[in-house]
Amino acid sequence: MAREAESAFDRYRGRVERPIYRLFAEYGLSHSRWFVTGMTANVLARSASLLPPVVLGAALDGIFGAGSDRIPYRLPLVPAAWIPAGNAAQFRFSVALIVGAFLLTAVCTWIYGMAANNFAHRVMHDVRTDSFAKLQRLDMPFFDDKQTGEVMAILNNDATNLERFLDDALHDSARLIVMVGGIAALLVWMNPQLAAVTLLAVPLMWVLTRWFMRAVEPRYAAQRESVGDLNTRLENSLGGIELVKTSGTEAFETDRVSVASYDYFRKTMAMLRLNYVYRPGMELLAGLSFAATFLVGGWWLATDDAPLVLSGDLTTGTFVTFLLLSQRFVTPLAEVSNIVDQYENAKASSERVFGLMSIPAHISDSEDAQPLEDPAGHVEYDNVSFAYEEEPVINSVSLSVPAGETAALVGPTGAGKSTLCKLLLRLYDVNHGAIRIDGQDVREVTLDSLRKQVGYVSQDSYLFDGTVRENLAYGAFEATGEELIEAARAAEAHEFIEALPGGYDTRVGERGVKLSGGQRQRLALARAMLGDFSIVVLDEATSSVDTETEAAIQRSLARLTEDRTTFVIAHRLSTVREADRVFVIEDGQVIERGTHEELVEASGLYASLWSAQTDEIRASR
Ligand code: ADP
Repeated sequence: MAREAESAFDRYRGRVERPIYRLFAEYGLSHSRWFVTGMTANVLARSASLLPPVVLGAALDGIFGAGSDRIPYRLPLVPAAWIPAGNAAQFRFSVALIVGAFLLTAVCTWIYGMAANNFAHRVMHDVRTDSFAKLQRLDMPFFDDKQTGEVMAILNNDATNLERFLDDALHDSARLIVMVGGIAALLVWMNPQLAAVTLLAVPLMWVLTRWFMRAVEPRYAAQRESVGDLNTRLENSLGGIELVKTSGTEAFETDRVSVASYDYFRKTMAMLRLNYVYRPGMELLAGLSFAATFLVGGWWLATDDAPLVLSGDLTTGTFVTFLLLSQRFVTPLAEVSNIVDQYENAKASSERVFGLMSIPAHISDSEDAQPLEDPAGHVEYDNVSFAYEEEPVINSVSLSVPAGETAALVGPTGAGKSTLCKLLLRLYDVNHGAIRIDGQDVREVTLDSLRKQVGYVSQDSYLFDGTVRENLAYGAFEATGEELIEAARAAEAHEFIEALPGGYDTRVGERGVKLSGGQRQRLALARAMLGDFSIVVLDEATSSVDTETEAAIQRSLARLTEDRTTFVIAHRLSTVREADRVFVIEDGQVIERGTHEELVEASGLYASLWSAQTDEIRASR
């Protein structure tokens, strides 16, 4: 099972088809208003920005031209009937058009930015929430493999990649199409022959761009790999800081970091060097386009005769418009490599996101699952076997605990005690046999109801970043303040909580006050007291508290377990003594069973563990 989880990422990722299409179809459609608005505004803004050079050309010919040079004022796509008669009116018309074009560009750029951002971030909000919801339902083996780092990377980096793609790359590609396509169409419309000269640079720019993309790709990959190595190195060295300090190997670690950092530096420079050729190359080609246009157009104008194989007329205005527009190709074309890069990244990222989402959860409600309602709590393991991977961990275990009784599971570390309890909660499913509560197979009841009925206190109780109060009420969100305090008192936690700087409102967890293992366990016990469980599992729940506190907790534990079926896993056999029945587990099997007294009598493994512990206690007195 664990092996399956190990490759689950890659396997399911490989099966994702047309990820970018799916991103739009599954998440983009509900925000398509933002997308359409953004794209329309973007196209309008770019188109409007082409207007001023065209108007300038028309004005040069139609208004400012001297004598015979003057030709009628005309604009592409504008019907002649709309153009006013007379120089002054045409001049005002031109000014209005230019001002209008700049205003339109500004307004549309603003609308575009807002809509594109909204689209990208709304889509990603949905993707993030949805993938997290799906992720939580995955089976434990997935999380056992410590893939949290990779999952975090998907929720963080991949989401950022997608955001950038949806935000920038779409914008840039629209700009590319409008600018290159629009300008080419304009130039061809105005003077196809001179356009051939000016546009000659575009295929060359394209060739240069293709070369750059091909050359940069392996170097970019090498650089990313190198930054990965550098980060691993840094994490490793900082993670082992205690060992580093105690071994006095700071200089050694600095050297190792330096080697990794230098490698990253070299790979980055190797990549950047290509930029030094590409960007100036693009500028140069744009310059050549300008120079060629200037040469041919200037010659044409100066001699009033079409040069070489060209024919027809060229006006000064058209000439100026050409020169101005010939400079507008560079930026959008230079963005091509970014667009392709972002597209490839986004494709890989959405593959990972969808791959993650498509990993199936095996442990889920069966089709005809019934809620487990108010069970008396009779628990029965019927010939249960289980393996995490191939190695069997539980072998044909059968045991029965009548409702309300306390069963202790005892045995060496790694015997399978925790695993037995986790099977009861269906954190994993049995491979053979069945576990029943009041005769109902746990696989036939809803997961929600099962986990509402079975309380679980583990040896390492997790604290969420938040206040003590929030941590206590976790899962029992409706509990009143008084109930919280009562539960905390019962778990011997009230006193230390009161002594914290902010009492119940003290922030604990990652960024708050650090609590000791014993304090955390007592919080977890208090939490279990709040839940209305019929069955309680205490997995080494009091292992980190000192004997004195344990004795105190024992009294309240007695209250917790009084009329609930309880499983206690404990190393300290003193806590096991009171149990109604004891199961001694070794190598995934029940090797002894009975009451404490019976087992001590039987002089088996339990008896020897007991005498070893009582000897220890005697020796320490
Ligand atoms: P105990 O509670 O008796 O100390 P466990 O039930 O924790 O024993 O472990 C039983 C065996 O299963 C051990 O060999 C342990 O290494 C293995 N094991 C426990 N948890 C996992 C897991 N999540 N994945 C794989 N093997 C596990």
